Amino acid sequence: MRNRFPGYCYYCTTLVPKGEGHFEKRQGAKGFRVIHAECVFKQREEKAKAVEAAQ
Ligand SMILES: [Zn+2]
Repeated sequence: MRNRFPGYCYYCTTLVPKGEGHFEKRQGAKGFRVIHAECVFKQREEKAKAVEAAQ
């Protein structure tokens, strides 16, 4: 879901302007965290590499 409010990306820690990224609800906590759309892909790549390395 696109972020309706600006916030700081939890992946690269820089500002995500409104509508430029995605937000995720935090489990068991108030509020939400924000990530750039491009950082979602970077994070996925890293996870994929981690899986490859583990095999
Ligand atoms: Zn980012």
